[in-house]
Amino acid sequence: MSNDLNKDVRKFIYDHLYSFAIPPTPEKIMIKFKKDREEIITVLVSLHDDHLIVFDQKIKKIMIAHPFSGIPTSFVVKSSKDMKYYATCAWDSIALHFTLEDDVEVEAYCHYCNDEIRLILSNNQIVLKIPEETIIHFQEPAGKWWDDIMNTCFNTMNYFCSKEHLEKWIQKNPSKAGELVPDDKILVLSQFLYKNKMNLDYVRPSVEQTKEKFNHIGLTGEFWKI
Ligand SMILES: [Zn+2]
Repeated sequence: MSNDLNKDVRKFIYDHLYSFAIPPTPEKIMIKFKKDREEIITVLVSLHDDHLIVFDQKIKKIMIAHPFSGIPTSFVVKSSKDMKYYATCAWDSIALHFTLEDDVEVEAYCHYCNDEIRLILSNNQIVLKIPEETIIHFQEPAGKWWDDIMNTCFNTMNYFCSKEHLEKWIQKNPSKAGELVPDDKILVLSQFLYKNKMNLDYVRPSVEQTKEKFNHIGLTGEFWKI
């Protein structure tokens, strides 16, 4: 199997998500590239193994193409072109601003009280945040993210409407305490990992490059070890 096919299929998945806000089915990819099922499933598994998509091998569906979710979530991102996308988590809702290269409005919920949270992103910045005290909490240490990527993305990277609500939630769920990720750092990480996702030639930063980035912005210690 040529590497070019992997690249083309990855790009097709992202273009499909961009246009329709849902990922293509394997059948649609088979038609597009005139390949049989086995060949396309092999490509999708290979893209999953390279951490370029999340492909559920049991149900044979694309679940995630970061920062896009393949299924509805509580992280809704509206583009200036009036498209509505689902992000997999709080981080990915910010990241969609960089992937789409567009002003976006994020609608989400506090993971403790379920109150609505709204953010507007423009020019690589968060320009509005309601409530203003909204924070992002990562539950799982970075080294474990890909051990169970669907759980990590769909369940453990959440917004809280205030530090107080994060603390109350941790009191109820002490084993789930992780780290608070400040806005400036989530913006740098989003730009670093997600900016060129729509490009055919997107290359995922290496573990070394990611380590360097974590270090550079002060994300150090056990939690950020990869
Ligand atoms: Zn709350």
